[in-house]
Amino acid sequence: MLRPVALSLHLDQAQTEYAIQTTGRHLILANSAILTLRCRSKATIWRNDPPFKEVYDLTSMTFDELGLDPQILRAIQEKGYTTPSPIQAQAIPAVMAGGDVMAAAQTGTGKTAGFTLPLLNRLIKGARARDQQVRTLILTPTRELAAQIAESVTTYGKHVKLCSNVIFGGVPAGPQLKKLRQGTDILIATPGRLLDLINQGAMKFDTLEVFILDEADRMLDMGFIHDIKKIISKLPRNRQNLMFSATFSDDIRKLAKGLINNPTEISVSPRNSTAGSVTQYLIPLERTRKADALVELIKSNNWTQTLVFSRTKRGANKLATYFESQGISAVAIHSNKSQNARTKALSDFKAGKVKVLFATDIAARGIDIDDLPQVVNYDLPEQAEDYIHRIGRTGRAGLRGQAISLVSADELHLLVDIEKLTQKLIERRKLGGFEPHTPLPEAELGAKVPRPQKKAPASRNRNFGARGPR
Ligand code: AMP
Repeated sequence: MLRPVALSLHLDQAQTEYAIQTTGRHLILANSAILTLRCRSKATIWRNDPPFKEVYDLTSMTFDELGLDPQILRAIQEKGYTTPSPIQAQAIPAVMAGGDVMAAAQTGTGKTAGFTLPLLNRLIKGARARDQQVRTLILTPTRELAAQIAESVTTYGKHVKLCSNVIFGGVPAGPQLKKLRQGTDILIATPGRLLDLINQGAMKFDTLEVFILDEADRMLDMGFIHDIKKIISKLPRNRQNLMFSATFSDDIRKLAKGLINNPTEISVSPRNSTAGSVTQYLIPLERTRKADALVELIKSNNWTQTLVFSRTKRGANKLATYFESQGISAVAIHSNKSQNARTKALSDFKAGKVKVLFATDIAARGIDIDDLPQVVNYDLPEQAEDYIHRIGRTGRAGLRGQAISLVSADELHLLVDIEKLTQKLIERRKLGGFEPHTPLPEAELGAKVPRPQKKAPASRNRNFGARGPR
């Protein structure tokens, strides 16, 4: 029998967040330098960001212990993973047990493998899909995320014989329809195109075994609630449901009530935390000087790969054009661009062919770029939680990254919201030659700052400086 023990752990990096698994059920997160933990004699402690290396080894958990099929383990090994991440260590056994699961996991925690690995393990045991049948439906908000999950399914499932398909809008439906005919073991889809194809009678859900709702919070933000409900109404009642969300708001819980039964709840990250491997700072400056300040930062620091968040699609387009005119290769992605243009922009950026990718929050959701060194908030997000999603694009896979925010005085209320949410004041740095005439006031955590009145429509060139495009 396991015996409770007290552990005193000296964790060296005070800024790093750690995940601690004690009895296989509870995870405690800490970023304190010294932590006293009362636990059973089994404990594993990870740094809570990839590659999820154990820092204190009492059990040394490996993927082998999770009971996964040898062909799946082979693919994991070939991918180079040695230790399951905290979400994987919890989600894999819970999903394999067959019940419903509700997991709160922020971007970059390894959640895709957390549901894909046990899913593959389940599906290889049953009969293959035939004649338009779909055995698993993974619903996800954006095309990029759908494509990325499909890539993970292919990677982890490369030694097993299962058929996966991915469907999303913005590309012709014909080839997707054709592929669905032979039956699909794992279907990854965005809601709009899925509903279109369901209405055309392209698939049968009578043998559906598992339904996965990924990024549920973002689905609701994007207004997909009615589509989700319509889709769920087409599925058989008897199925396993898994729901993943960065946060569990009241709305998400309401959605979960009608969707999942008696779920195992998993949480590996405290709400609203930011990854310890990301250095964050902000530069106070005039709004009209942001474009030139960013040109200066990129040129003087010789940044070769920078993801920049812009609040509007038009802003992203104009910035890309302006940067090109300044001799910095740049592209924009947002929902008005064709799928082909988005895919090309992303692959050019990933391959280092363009230095700067301007993106809106929705387009950038779920994008996983290996070794991305910089994320810049050109505009602070309206929703403070988006700040966490944005900066989660960098500092992944155990590497360090930096997140820089360009903040003008009119964004003070947004800054205060972010600092309140993360419970951290963001370090301020000056950029020589760009000091603002209107200072950005210092605000304490949780200070009340009046929100600006709704403005008249923004002037056309609000995002650019005197030398910016007209
Ligand atoms: P995700 O949260 O699913 O987007 O995964 C974040 C990143 O972590 C991806 O680049 C994965 O390839 C990587 N990753 C996932 N699981 C592991 C693991 N067990 N060890 C190392 N890296 C991992």
